[in-house]
Amino acid sequence: MKILVLNSGSSSLKYKLYEVGADGAEFNAIAAGGAERIGIEGSFIKHKKSGRKTDQIYCELPSHTQTIKKIFEMLQDPEMGSLSRLGELSGVGHRVVHGGEDFTKSVMVDGQVVEAIRKNAALAPLHNPPNLLGIDAVYKLLPEMKQVAVFDTAIHQTMPPKAYLYGLPKEQYSTYKIRRYGFHGTSHGYVAKKAAEKLGRPLEELKLITCHLGNGGSITAFEGGRSIDTSMGFTPLAGILMGTRSGDLDPYIPLYIMQSQELTAEQVSAMMNKRGGLLGLCGKNDMRDITAGVEEGDKACKDALEIFIYRIQKYIGSYIAALNGVDAIVFTAGIGENVHHVRRSILENFSYVGIMCDDAANEANEPVISTKDSKAAALVIHTDEELVIAQDTFEIISGKNS
Ligand code: ADP
Repeated sequence: MKILVLNSGSSSLKYKLYEVGADGAEFNAIAAGGAERIGIEGSFIKHKKSGRKTDQIYCELPSHTQTIKKIFEMLQDPEMGSLSRLGELSGVGHRVVHGGEDFTKSVMVDGQVVEAIRKNAALAPLHNPPNLLGIDAVYKLLPEMKQVAVFDTAIHQTMPPKAYLYGLPKEQYSTYKIRRYGFHGTSHGYVAKKAAEKLGRPLEELKLITCHLGNGGSITAFEGGRSIDTSMGFTPLAGILMGTRSGDLDPYIPLYIMQSQELTAEQVSAMMNKRGGLLGLCGKNDMRDITAGVEEGDKACKDALEIFIYRIQKYIGSYIAALNGVDAIVFTAGIGENVHHVRRSILENFSYVGIMCDDAANEANEPVISTKDSKAAALVIHTDEELVIAQDTFEIISGKNS
């Protein structure tokens, strides 16, 4: 069986094709790629069939439908393709950013699901509309194809009201649905499951803190396999300091900036989303550049890194309190999986719960980076959001999780 995973953005679209073993035990990525500059001059698709060099094709991509049509053609190409015909595809799984309160798990797409995603676009105006364009394009090209929506927010719907309600007048939640939703759910859920496997204990018995540290970043507390709190909030701007996003701020700051500097909401939003975070503090948002800056004695880089680590430590500490303990702290995504000095600095403040960093294991990016005699574990787990989408799609289209 073959399953295609799509992640549609406003002007870009990523895809990955999986070959799935009959019982769903094995998922092999056999092709992957991405379209850039959809609807903009100079559009192209980078396509990689496994075992072959990357093909880069410049072509007009005026719409998402045209883009997916082109991807389908490439997937059937005698040389760079991996399908003899489109009929070989059994399902298409879509990443959908915001499921609001309507979705607690992945679902088969039908008219009602499309309507609910559209309704929730008010909460994610930059993400849900292009996600829907992807669903719509597949529907136009292959009306009979089974499509599955996998939501970034779904896993966090288990949070209790004390974690998701803000201190605002009641109607802000009841009428306007302003609450904490949380994001990166596919990643947090995946690494939590893998952490339980690594620890050889049932997920349901564990208290875990998962740290997704990429360009965007968030931290989630899991108790009994359920997300009970997470650092991102109503939007993915909240929580820890990120590559270009500010993370938590005194809530009055954006209002004050708008009033005192006569900036519009859009301008302040761009400042907080695109020019804040590590970039705002030291002019760099890539951790490799910041690490090099620190080594060269750049004070702004050193300060930015300290703030980044301090905020992560505070979130982890607060979640240890929320969970009344912790069995493992899990690191994932670009920084979490690769940057040992960040992990080491974070872990320095958790000796009080009995977590000691094993420096050699940490520097080698090994899966277990806590010492053998630590009372709780520190783990490094590679995240794979496309794989989760493919797995959920497989389970739903084969009726195992309807
Ligand atoms: P996103 O998916 O949110 O764009 P990633 O998970 O790819 O982000 O993480 C990007 C961050 O991870 C960047 O700060 C980058 O510097 C860092 N990163 C990724 N790989 C490495 C590596 N091998 N060494 C150091 N930093 C890395």
